[in-house]
Order: sequence, then structure tokens, then C-alpha cells
Amino acid sequence: MIALVFNLPFTLIGIISAIFSLPYQIRIVKNPLSLVIKVRKFWWVFGYMKNARAMTIGYIVLLGPRLLRNDLEHEFIHVKQFQKYPLIFPLLYFYELLKNGPRKNRFEDEAYTLSRSIYEGSK
Ligand SMILES: [Zn+2]
Repeated sequence: MIALVFNLPFTLIGIISAIFSLPYQIRIVKNPLSLVIKVRKFWWVFGYMKNARAMTIGYIVLLGPRLLRNDLEHEFIHVKQFQKYPLIFPLLYFYELLKNGPRKNRFEDEAYTLSRSIYEGSK
């Protein structure tokens, strides 16, 4: 419950991001607690995230049009990471990203390994 409140700012950013991404379907998932929103396009995304198939912001999971096997399971692991590190997860993630890159940082490594989802990037 505390985690839910602490992560509320990110969840709100997630909702705004969903609105910008042209949402067309939404459902509530209980475990892990999240809103899974299918969207048409991540047109506002730039940099290394440009080809993202899905993303998690707070308890909002956005699924784009180019999903591959186990992408939803991958995003659920990020929801659990938000639950595990309330409020500070994005900071920890960003630090890990700078230190170890988009695939080898410990949060993505956990998500890819546990979900057995597909990494398309270069490293
Ligand atoms: Zn990920």
C-alpha cells in the first residue's frame, strides 16, 4: 500500500504517457497490481528507447503494436521492481542504465532473464 502511494507520481506520468500514445484497450491486472494499456504508437519516445515494444511507468504497463514473445511478463517484472523500490526505482534504474547500458543493467537483466523475452538491441 505504501509502495502504491510512493509510486503514484510515476503512475500518473504513466497515465499521461498512455494518453499520448493513443490508447485503445485497457485492463486491470491484480498480480502484479497494474493497468495494462494497449497503445498504437510511442511517437514521443526518443533515443535508445525509440524502438521500445512496451514500457512500464509506475504501475502502468504500455504495450505497443510490435510486441514479441513474453513482453508482458517482462514488463510485469518492472512493475515488481517499482513495488520493491518505491519512489526510488526510476533513480536506481537510471543509475544502472548509465553504468551498465540498456541490456546489462541489473533491472533489465532480471526482466529479460526471468521473462525470457527477446532483446533486439545491439548490446
Ligand atoms: Zn525492460
